[in-house]
Amino acid sequence: GNGTLEGISRVADLDASKLTITLSKTLKPIPHHETMMFGNIMSDHMLVAEFDPEIGWSSPEIKPRGPLSIDPASSCVQYGTTVFEGMKAYIGPDGEPRLFRPDMNMARLARSAERMALPPFNTDQVLALIKQLIIVDRRWIPLFSGYSLYVRPTITGTQIGFSVGASDHATLCIMLSPGGPYFRSNAKPTSVLAVSETVRAWPGGTGGHKVALNYSAGFLPLRAAQKQGYDQVLWLLGDDMKVTEAGAMNVFVVVARDDGDIDLLTPPLDGTILPGVTRDSVLALAKAHTAGETTLPGLEIQNSQRVRLHAQERSFTMAEMVQWSTEGKILEAFGAGTAVVIASIGKIGWKGEDLDLPVHEGGLGPIAKALRTRILDIQEGREIWKNWSIL
Ligand code: PMP
Repeated sequence: GNGTLEGISRVADLDASKLTITLSKTLKPIPHHETMMFGNIMSDHMLVAEFDPEIGWSSPEIKPRGPLSIDPASSCVQYGTTVFEGMKAYIGPDGEPRLFRPDMNMARLARSAERMALPPFNTDQVLALIKQLIIVDRRWIPLFSGYSLYVRPTITGTQIGFSVGASDHATLCIMLSPGGPYFRSNAKPTSVLAVSETVRAWPGGTGGHKVALNYSAGFLPLRAAQKQGYDQVLWLLGDDMKVTEAGAMNVFVVVARDDGDIDLLTPPLDGTILPGVTRDSVLALAKAHTAGETTLPGLEIQNSQRVRLHAQERSFTMAEMVQWSTEGKILEAFGAGTAVVIASIGKIGWKGEDLDLPVHEGGLGPIAKALRTRILDIQEGREIWKNWSIL
């Protein structure tokens, strides 16, 4: 459900109507948008609420951004009990801020918190608070296409003591960071190094949740991959070297079928894959295109028929990737995630060699480009699709 405290406990649930706002006396100048990397600039304010097992959730507070006071014996410092989310706010053509499918991020945040045994909260209230914070800091939403305000809700365990167990105290903190294209030049495809000696996730682990430990455990292999000249790690899993995810992106591969149609493959949500909002959107849009419910830009009619995409959640291995590549069947490979939206993968390092993927003019292949264009059009409010872009 949406993680309400009702019926579980008599303590107070998170309540957006109790919000207090203390505005910063000095507002920062907004840096030029071209200096905005991913997450290097923060807005003026943040939202904080605290959970105490005797009281419940405190009245949430929007206040000037700054340090939290955290005891060094806290659960988050000692045991890494932190979960977070990543979503983006855009200004639509109507001048109004909007969020992309925030309900999916809220549901995932509740699942992540539950997995780390952190206190529950009402996700509708978190979303209401995110909207309030965005309204307070709306001047930080960049107006350029491809730019947006990244929203980072974080919940961290603040129980003090070395006892090895769930943190009954927690702090919710929401921050905002304006940003542009994750990869500076979208024309340059991403390179990934396929890694199997270390794994990001495993059956029964936490790979399907957005918990901080999933990321920090990958920093050493990431640094090693970057030293070898690759942008990201392509995480493999199992003796058969199944392809799972790349960096903070879900992976898609576009494979030519013998019948002339196209397979759009991504690994299934078996608990080792983060259920990406972008991933879900790619699958839904590809299916809607093939069903004739919409037509993706650039994929209108080719050879007098609609391009038929068979979007499938199925696992595939590095051996299959190599085989498809040798047979010339890989048309495109790309990553999908909030930060990048869609980023094409141009090279996969594997066993000391590079699997070179097709090069496309402008970086993105036609399928990746169609999906990226449509998703950005929906996110930035130029196009309406279901209730995906709302505030
Ligand atoms: N996989 C991982 C490991 C991620 O961190 C992310 C980013 N949240 C994604 C995939 C993509 O998910 P989303 O589309 O919801 O951003």
